[in-house]
Order: sequence, then C-alpha cells, then structure tokens
Amino acid sequence: MRPHLPENETPVLGPGENKCHKPGMTVSIRPHHLLCILTYLGKGYTASFVQNYNGVIKRLNAGETVTIVTGPDDICRAMLNEDGCHCHNDSVLERDAIALAQVSNFLDRDVGPGQPVHLTPDRIAGLRKAFAAGEIRGGCAGCEWSELCTSISARNFAGCHLSTR
Ligand code: SF4
Repeated sequence: MRPHLPENETPVLGPGENKCHKPGMTVSIRPHHLLCILTYLGKGYTASFVQNYNGVIKRLNAGETVTIVTGPDDICRAMLNEDGCHCHNDSVLERDAIALAQVSNFLDRDVGPGQPVHLTPDRIAGLRKAFAAGEIRGGCAGCEWSELCTSISARNFAGCHLSTR
C-alpha cells in the first residue's frame, strides 16, 4: 500500500487565505509535520511560531486526535502572514506526499487527508524508531533542519516535547 496525495486534491488553503483547517477538536497536521513533531525541541522560526507550536504539542500530549490535511495546518498557522512563507510551496507539498506514503506504509494504513490518526505513546515511539533508522525520512529531503533532526534522533529524542507517556 503506497497511498499518495490525489493529483486533483484542492489545497485546504489557497494563496492569500490565512485560516487553518479544522481548528478545535482535532489537531490538523500536514503529512511531513508528522515527522517534525517527533523532533520538536521548542525552537523555531519566530517567537509566535514557537508559541503556537507549543500549543499544538500540548494538545497532542493531552490526547487530541490528529486529522491529516493537505496544505497548511495548525503548525503553519503562525507563519502564514510572514514574508517568505513557504507553507503553500509545491516543494513542500511534494515532501508531504513522500511523508504520507512512507508513514502510511509504516503504519500499514492510509493516513491521507481527512483521516484521523491517534498518536498513542506506542505509535510515537514506533515512528521515532523508524525516523532514527531513516525509514520514514523521505519528506525531510531538502529541509534545512535535516542535520539537526538527525542529531536529535541520534540522542534518542532527548528533550523533545511530544510525549510518549
Ligand atoms: S528534517 Fe525538516 S522535515 Fe524532517 S523532521 Fe526535521 S524539521 Fe521536519
């Protein structure tokens, strides 16, 4: 099973729109952010980005379910008005598609847009193990933080905010 983003899928947000999909009862996550949340240490592009990201992780640690979306998600929310925002770029959508395929394959289920994913402690631990082994890192290709995330995984994700308890 190698699911992918449908070719004609309409992004959740179009250019110039600055709202995120599905706020509230479920955390919206674009596929490559399923990787990023594994290594999140509380650092990021801007203070507001970190503040928003901390809130997302807090919701996940409280047990909120994830809904996979196409395009900008709850983590992107704080960047959508920033100059040089890359959240709508085709290259990022391509990385999403790769991450979606690899994570779906790893979990042995389709985690495509609209699909709920419950990030249980066991599932997070499994994803981190696969991340460290390089099995689900295709979506990291070209990311400026790749070396940092490799070193974080080599340190067994010490200090990362997403909890496995
Ligand atoms: S390398 Fe980039 S895409 Fe991969 S987990 Fe780290 S921040 Fe996310």
